[in-house]
Amino acid sequence: MEMYFCPLYSGSSGNALFLQAGKTRLLIDAGKTGSCISAALEKIGVAPETLSGVLITHEHSDHILGAGVMARKYHLPIFATGETWRAMDGKIGKVPGELIRTVQSGKGFWLGDIGVEPFSIPHDAADPVGYRLWGGNLSVSTATDLGVFTEKVFERIAGSTLVLLESNHDPDMLRTNPRYNQLLKARILGNKGHLSNEACAAALLQLIAGGTKHLILGHLSGENNTPALARRVSENAMTREGIRVGADVSLQVALRDEIGNLFRLGEAD
Ligand SMILES: [Zn+2]
Ligand SMILES: [Zn+2]
Repeated sequence: MEMYFCPLYSGSSGNALFLQAGKTRLLIDAGKTGSCISAALEKIGVAPETLSGVLITHEHSDHILGAGVMARKYHLPIFATGETWRAMDGKIGKVPGELIRTVQSGKGFWLGDIGVEPFSIPHDAADPVGYRLWGGNLSVSTATDLGVFTEKVFERIAGSTLVLLESNHDPDMLRTNPRYNQLLKARILGNKGHLSNEACAAALLQLIAGGTKHLILGHLSGENNTPALARRVSENAMTREGIRVGADVSLQVALRDEIGNLFRLGEAD
């Protein structure tokens, strides 16, 4: 089976990731307006009404902004944990009962041709999850909005064909940012905040040792990071370990406001 994956948007200004395996297509998060997401899908040749559903990671607005609109307009089921549904109440408008689906971390299920495995991540939301998505022997995992890359998270996604991992900020840029107050800085740097470039790079080395070949850096901060810096930190860490970027592994950065590459994963991956 082939899989397709495309980060439509990734970052603190909105997240929406597209994934397809076999005939099943879905979105992970819908954190831009409905029209924005629909337009991005059309650009990669996907009609929004052909989606089978939207998986939600957590209730922060950069992940759910367009979820209600997408559900109502295209009659798409929305998948989220029970706590996340409660926390989303009043934020995404009314979702018809037949489109409400509840997931649980650690409990896998099938959505058409895609095997879905939600797993818990440490973040300051009600019950945040990442997803590992299976198409045959291939799997794509997404983990953004996590304060620390725990051993548990590693176990859940180890061996994935492709991983999109958060590379949120440069700690020095964040600490010296005059527009962020101390509370916000502490929140981002904390164990339930966001992964720094360095923490991401260390996690990627672990994932590569576990067999992952395709790596995408995501959820970059617009204020406290740059795509070039995030890439450099991860690339340097890999080079130090003798891993050849572009030969042994592929490394890309998902941009905040630019549709990313459409990955096609096959048995050779
Ligand atoms: Zn976020
Ligand atoms: Zn968040």
